Amino acid sequence: MMTTSRPLQMVDLKTQYEKIQSEIDEAVLNVIRSTMFIGGPEVKGFQDELEAYLNVKHVIPCANGTDALQIAFMALGLQPGDEVIVPAFTYVATAEVIALLKLTPIMVDVDPDTFNLTPESFEAAITPKTKAVVPVHLFGQCADMEGIIKVAEKHGIYVIEDNAQGIGADYTYSDGRVAKSGTIGHIGCTSFFPSKNLGCYGDGGAIFTNDTALADKIRIVANHGQSRRYYHDEVGVNSRLDAIQAAILRIKLRHLDNYNTARTTAADYYDAAFSQIPAISTPVRSAFSSHVFHQYTLRLTNGKRDELVQYLTDKQVPCMIYYPVPLHHQNAFKESAKPGLVLPVTEQLCREVFSLPIHSELTPDIQDIIISAVQSYFE
Ligand SMILES: *Cc1c(COP(=O)(O)O)cnc(C)c1O
Repeated sequence: MMTTSRPLQMVDLKTQYEKIQSEIDEAVLNVIRSTMFIGGPEVKGFQDELEAYLNVKHVIPCANGTDALQIAFMALGLQPGDEVIVPAFTYVATAEVIALLKLTPIMVDVDPDTFNLTPESFEAAITPKTKAVVPVHLFGQCADMEGIIKVAEKHGIYVIEDNAQGIGADYTYSDGRVAKSGTIGHIGCTSFFPSKNLGCYGDGGAIFTNDTALADKIRIVANHGQSRRYYHDEVGVNSRLDAIQAAILRIKLRHLDNYNTARTTAADYYDAAFSQIPAISTPVRSAFSSHVFHQYTLRLTNGKRDELVQYLTDKQVPCMIYYPVPLHHQNAFKESAKPGLVLPVTEQLCREVFSLPIHSELTPDIQDIIISAVQSYFE
């Protein structure tokens, strides 16, 4: 079989592409033939279709997920010295743009089961300088948004969702209402990096909001601070999704729910096998969110995570550690992280987590190879 003859990989974009190749090739060629490389109908079409999919008033496409976060902070008019609360267990981009804008990232601990920011750790970190909080829907599952928003409203704090890993996840409120991840706070940010659940063939990102005034501000910031060409009201940035990427994303958006279902099915299959191994904790799924498994992340609780990772690597089974170093221990944040800050859950997760291949093209055949490799380590 073609799929199993390929070397095992964390993500199989090639097999995924082959299944939609004729549509993608035609869409890309159409953009080239039109020479409408920037803006134009593909970008507008994708924007409209993503708004409909997410049931959100405004989608503003941009160049990547890191830009999306930066533009969000700029549009909110945050000032140097303002504090922004972030989970310490996340990808660097979440906090990087905060520091870049001379805001102060305040790193807090996460939930040991879902790995996400909690309303409690958020509330405990609030000071008079706190202006925003960034829940990250880590590995594909929403943070406790209702709890976080309740705390944020009490203190007048902006909520910016880092939805780079969560696109397509459904969040269920306690009254039964359902909303898509990234559309719950004031602003949602996402990335279309190729390996994300909705990935393009290069870099891309987007910002979501239901607030029309904020959407206008975001568009101005992302477009050189201008609302009228050559009249610049403020210092902005240049951040665009190009038309080729938008054309690809329009096609892939139609498959997103199927891709996410395939990931969840693969996660179920792994869960059944790994729940038999006492030293391994399988991913915990919260009651209020679906899980779109951007990563399938396990914990090895016997202190031998690095040994297992080496064992799998030697057997050519792909395996990654997301993330080995918490934000508050990164050299880049030496200035902003409080000296001596201890975040026990985050630090323990950094020692225990490991992630196995998960993507839309996994089959039980491929998973069986990965599962037996893990099982053989414990034999
Ligand atoms: C990928 C990612 C980003 C950044 O996205 P880019 O498009 O690579 O800039 C931000 N936050 C999280 C949690 C991510 O996983």
